[in-house]
Amino acid sequence: MRIGFFPGSFDPITNGHADILSGALGLFDRVVVGIGTHPGKAPLFSFEERVALIGELAATLPDAAGRVDVRAFSGLTVTAAGEAGATIIIRGLRDGTDFDYEMQLAGMNGVLQSAIRTVFLPASPETRPITGTLVRQIARLGGDVSPFVPAFVARKLTQKFAS
Ligand code: ADP
Repeated sequence: MRIGFFPGSFDPITNGHADILSGALGLFDRVVVGIGTHPGKAPLFSFEERVALIGELAATLPDAAGRVDVRAFSGLTVTAAGEAGATIIIRGLRDGTDFDYEMQLAGMNGVLQSAIRTVFLPASPETRPITGTLVRQIARLGGDVSPFVPAFVARKLTQKFAS
């Protein structure tokens, strides 16, 4: 059984994350989505909300039934990957900035835990510009985020900023 570990903040899950997750499902038997918790950085969506949105997204992906798990982690990504039974960490690459940062991360993670390798999946052209930070900012300013996130996430964002 090949298990891939897909870590991130997913605050909230976007079409960019969905693109990488569906690519990963083509490569692995199971994908464990790891929601990293950053001490001192308050997320917009609670862990429970993010899990629910990722679950809702997974239900829309072909052949994903029973193959996507979601969990939180607060320690090292390599430790969380190992605990998930994964030997591969999956990361998405959008541009040169992602590449430089991700190469550092993959290199240092490889020293911390040599049994775990990182695999990069290239962003699709349509979803490549999407970032969670900008999605949150657009929604906060009352903009239309529906081109960037699944419809149920767009609704949640609207509710969040209406209150
Ligand atoms: P992190 O803070 O760990 O980067 P994110 O939730 O922003 O958490 O991203 C998680 C993963 O998803 C990262 O590998 C990131 O490169 C990837 N990702 C985010 N947005 C996109 C996108 N639009 N296209 C491809 N990959 C993406």
